[in-house]
Order: sequence, then C-alpha cells, then structure tokens
Amino acid sequence: MTEEKVKVLIIGSGPAGYTAAIYASRAGLNPVLVTGGEPGGQLTTTNDVENFPGYPEGINGPAMMVDLQKQAERFGTDIRYGLVTSVDFSGYPHKAVVDEKHEITADAIIISTGASAKYLGLESEAKLMNQGVSACAVCDGFFYKGKDVAVVGAGDTAAEEALYLANICPKVHMIVRRDEMRASTIMQERVKNAANIEIHWNSSTEEVLGENEVTGIRIVDNVSGEKSEIPLSGFFVAIGHKPNTDIFKDYLDTDESGYLLVEPGTSKTKVEGVFVTGDAADRVYRQAITAAGSGCMGALDAERFLAAKEFEMAQ
Ligand code: NDP
Repeated sequence: MTEEKVKVLIIGSGPAGYTAAIYASRAGLNPVLVTGGEPGGQLTTTNDVENFPGYPEGINGPAMMVDLQKQAERFGTDIRYGLVTSVDFSGYPHKAVVDEKHEITADAIIISTGASAKYLGLESEAKLMNQGVSACAVCDGFFYKGKDVAVVGAGDTAAEEALYLANICPKVHMIVRRDEMRASTIMQERVKNAANIEIHWNSSTEEVLGENEVTGIRIVDNVSGEKSEIPLSGFFVAIGHKPNTDIFKDYLDTDESGYLLVEPGTSKTKVEGVFVTGDAADRVYRQAITAAGSGCMGALDAERFLAAKEFEMAQ
C-alpha cells in the first residue's frame, strides 16, 4: 500500500465534487479529487442540460462536466482517476484507500459521491438510454413536450414526475406494479385527478420498444398476464435512487435509504473534518445546481474547520 498525506480530499466528480474543488483550490487548500467509477457523475448519462443557470442555449451534460473539471484544474486541483474503496474515520486525520492500494490521509474530507438512479434492468431500457429512456423528468421532460410519455414507479418521485410531464405532454401513462401506490396521499390524489394521466395498475414493463429512439412500451398485466403495447416517445424510470454511501456507513449516520445525514443547513457530519455535499445527502432536490451549491458549502465548511484547527494547534 502506498501512502500520502493531503490537506483536503474530495471524493467524487459530479457538480458537487468539482464545485468543492474549485472553491477549495482557490482557497489555497490544494485539494486532491478522486473521481470515482463514473467520472463526471450522473450528468454524463444525460444529453442536454437546460436548467443550469448561465447556459442560455443549454449545454451537453458530459461537456459541462469537462468544463467543470477544467475549471477545477485551472486553480490547481489534483485530479486522480480511481475509486475510493474504503475509509477509516476512527481517528484524526482521516484515511481513505483508493483502488485498494493507495492510502490518502487527509485533514478534511469532502464526500461528493452522489446517487445512482435505479433502473428496471431490461436490455431494451439500457439500449435506449438517453434516446427516450431517462431517469429524470425535470432534466429531460422538456424534450418530450407535445409527445406521449410513460413514467414507471409509484412513489412520490414517480407522482411528481408524472405531474410535471402532464403539464407539457398530451398523455402520461403511469405504470404501477401493484394495485396501490406508495406515494403520499396528496400526490396520489393529484395524479388521479389529472385528466391526462392514465394509471396502469398491476402492470410491469416487459420491453421498451424502438431501435434508435423509443417508439413505445410493452406492458404485462400482472394479474391476467395480458400483454399490451402503448405507443409513446419518452420512458421515465422513477423507481428510486441509491446513494453511493456504502463505504461510509460504519462511521456516519444515514437515513433508512442510505442518504448521509448532515447538521441541518451545513455540510457537516457527526465526524469532525468530514463533510458531505450533493446527492449523497440529498433525497429531495437532486439537481445539478443544488449539488453544485452544496459543493460550495462543503468547501467553505472545510476551509473554516481547517482554519480553526490550525488556530487551535498554534495555541
Ligand atoms: P420510493 O422508494 O418511495 O418508491 C419507489 C417506487 O418505485 C415504488 O412505488 C416501487 O413500487 C416502485 N418500484 C421499485 N422497483 C420497481 C420495479 N422494479 N418495477 C416497477 N416499480 C418499481 O422512491 P421515490 O424516489 O419515489 O422516493 C424516495 C423518497 O423520497 C421517499 O421517501 C419519498 O417520499 C421522498 N420524496 C419526497 C418528495 C417530496 O417530498 N416532494 C419528492 C420525491 C421523493 P412498490 O410501491 O410496489 O414497492
């Protein structure tokens, strides 16, 4: 195992990680950023980003992440391609192991590992990803304005996405696998009262149809076994997200879904010197802009923590 000591380690390379890196670099903290297994994060799996302020014409998701990386590098962020495979927050300073072979000891750690959308796992769904299949209606729904779409899922996210899409699409099919929804009562009522949302109860998606773009779906009635095809252009998967937080669970508190808990209004965890930013701690908003904003908070919290620590040591 090789070893090194750094002041600030940032784990993750989505908008939260890179924003933390830009702020920490400009503050002279010489951060090292370890990208994770999907450099650039969830935005690299989307096409056009039109809701990030500052891009009047929109920007391609992967291109935006390249820009963020360049901006972080411009101020001296040391970017490493690799995956943090374990951490040890039992003492201070903290430790993180990259690719099971390189141990980084850091005075402050900013966790920006994000979350991953869950998918159904169908071959056709993977084939048509970003060609009609999406896991974010707020991000991609606009591209289906005026077209028929489907949302799969029955939780609050699915209900919210269906309602969002119902405002811009003539017809929204909601594919619900049981005979009831998990979403809060008020959201269920809204969905049921929307004239252009059709709920397909007890239904599972068997296949997403289309070659280079989605042209429809084939669903199966889980009770009768009857199959039917629905022509549509957009297929939104809203069956939940999984925060990428497994490696931290021995040291940090999480909610029941695995999202890391922070002191409200800050990025501070219960371990001093460990901060969380972005989707890893955000089950509600999960937007690039909110992740970037919290990345800024993480860097500022880390900077203040380190300044206080230095002052303490000097006494
Ligand atoms: P949830 O875990 O609450 O719901 C997931 C939904 O997807 C469930 O209805 C589940 O069905 C369905 N599902 C899971 N796997 C499959 C599958 N393979 N095929 C078909 N359907 C599937 O996730 P959400 O993202 O909706 O919500 C996460 C949390 O965030 C919740 O606590 C929610 O309340 C909260 N939230 C709050 C919001 C707000 O307050 N504005 C907005 C969005 C989310 P089943 O019910 O059968 O298990």
